[in-house]
Amino acid sequence: MAEDADVIVVGGGLAGLVAATEIADAGKRVIVVDQEGEQSLGGQAFWSFGGLFLVNSPEQRRLGIKDSYDLALQDWMGTAGFDRDDDLWPKRWAEAYVAFAAGEKRDWLRALGHRIFPVVGWAERGGYDAMGHGNSVPRFHVTWGTGPGIVEPFERRAREAQKNGRLAFRFRHRVDTLVMTNGAVEGISGAVLEPDSVERGKSSSRKVIGDFSLRAPAVIVASGGIGGNHDMVRQNWPQRLGEPPKFMISGVPEHVDGRMIGITEAAGARLINRDRMWHYVEGIRNWNPIWPRHGIRILPGPSSMWFDATGKRLPAPLFPGSDTLGQLHYIMSTGYDYSWFILTQSIIKKEFALSGSEQNPDLTGKSWRMTIKRATNKGAPAPVEAFKQNGADFIVRDNLADLVSAMNALSGDNLLQHDHIKAQIEARDREMSNAYVKDAQVMNIHNARRYIGDRLIRTARPHRILDPEHGPLIAVKLNILTRKTLGGFETDLDSRVFGNNREIIRGLYAAGEAAGFGGGGVHGYRSLEGTFLGGCLFSGRNAGRAAAKAAG
Ligand SMILES: Cc1cc2nc3c(=O)[nH]c(=O)nc-3n(C[C@H](O)[C@H](O)[C@H](O)COP(=O)(O)OP(=O)(O)OC[C@H]3O[C@@H](n4cnc5c(N)ncnc54)[C@H](O)[C@@H]3O)c2cc1C
Repeated sequence: MAEDADVIVVGGGLAGLVAATEIADAGKRVIVVDQEGEQSLGGQAFWSFGGLFLVNSPEQRRLGIKDSYDLALQDWMGTAGFDRDDDLWPKRWAEAYVAFAAGEKRDWLRALGHRIFPVVGWAERGGYDAMGHGNSVPRFHVTWGTGPGIVEPFERRAREAQKNGRLAFRFRHRVDTLVMTNGAVEGISGAVLEPDSVERGKSSSRKVIGDFSLRAPAVIVASGGIGGNHDMVRQNWPQRLGEPPKFMISGVPEHVDGRMIGITEAAGARLINRDRMWHYVEGIRNWNPIWPRHGIRILPGPSSMWFDATGKRLPAPLFPGSDTLGQLHYIMSTGYDYSWFILTQSIIKKEFALSGSEQNPDLTGKSWRMTIKRATNKGAPAPVEAFKQNGADFIVRDNLADLVSAMNALSGDNLLQHDHIKAQIEARDREMSNAYVKDAQVMNIHNARRYIGDRLIRTARPHRILDPEHGPLIAVKLNILTRKTLGGFETDLDSRVFGNNREIIRGLYAAGEAAGFGGGGVHGYRSLEGTFLGGCLFSGRNAGRAAAKAAG
């Protein structure tokens, strides 16, 4: 039987687009299949903040940051904590990926028209020792144009390849089976879903109007993770993080359904590290949702005070922006699945950023005029103000007693005592008089302000939380927000998938989140941030290049 293409790519997200464009550019024929409509091309990456992990970049150097491959690898290994036999390929991927991030990644993207916002962010700062979790230096490079800005170069290349006949899209085609013969992949089959003009990111119809099958000697699975499927998240939830949360919100659209993971496993592919995942603890319910249970992650600066559901301050070093999974573990150990920020108007104005392209119209719209207001504005950015006014998780009051009673009313748990919270805030506020202090969070604030990027747009001038000059007071109820799947299909550096017998499955490749961003879990247990889009770029590129080469 005739082949329909040299390679089939399942998934038109970033990983799939990168793989497909590499194949087409190598002169091979590729078909990209996606269950969503054309309007959702780009998958999650479109919605992303576009943050990229780069090492020793010109942007870092301009800000006086001294970074290197060795420092980044030290941070990566301290963060990943690889400790399993199954970490053989993930670790190899980690070494190769850090080299990519310190090497050709920026130039490769730049040649494709990608540009970077000049102030480098400092995510996951850790707070342990030099070999522990976290970024020693700022490395989070935001794409100028955020998510759409990272999708654009690859969509453009794909459209060109479509015009010259090397690439074809099959939208609204949902893959249900990988067709195998004698242990090798031969193609795919599945259902054709009814056309649906629903807006990008909204849930689309699952009504089947036909079936299809396509043949090719190679298939790349780039179908994303499981974050939109809370049942699957709970099933895979690791015991080391406590009980799965009863209430969660979704940081990803519903099409991140994990279905293709089961389908690929059924074809014999080896899924590893399924218990490793990356969910955020600073999730807020979107007052203007696009997808079901839509939540947004606050990217917090260092100054908000963080309290658990019972009103106890989170212990050092679990301050905002330090250690996402450390915070998740602590919060779940309290027996409640939420926590609180308490902050001032001065802090929200300077320190709250919201992750997501639609929440950052200045950067997404590539408007310098609007972006400069981040440093000069009197109020918070408009999307943050909108949440403050309309968000179900925000409370604004002039005094602490009213704030605490509104917090109790919002949670319905009545666990917070005004005197207890007041004593902790006053103690912290007393530490504001000197530049050398014992409160580790206050030390962090002073440390952050020694980095020019933080001083400019991310860290409020130190002040007392209870100083009315900096008011009103704000409380934010923080929910657990599902996002990334860190485990995935075990792959070699060519993104070829291993079977359960530890042999490569002929013709089968995996990339992006489905492959744990490379190897079946390039992050190990934790991430340094900005590493997910980068993992899609790197694993998608490796998959595309290897599959094109194998096609002869
Ligand atoms: C709001 C938000 C902010 C983010 N910010 C950042 C950031 O700043 N930095 C960073 O590094 N990462 C960030 N991420 C994470 C990053 O965007 C994702 O991890 C990445 O884009 C995943 O890409 P992917 O190609 O692997 O999968 P996806 O984007 O999920 O694409 C998979 C595609 O496969 C299709 N598919 C699935 N199953 C089937 C099937 N059976 N048949 C046919 N098609 C199927 C889906 O419809 C989808 O289009 C963010 C994510 C979100 C949602």
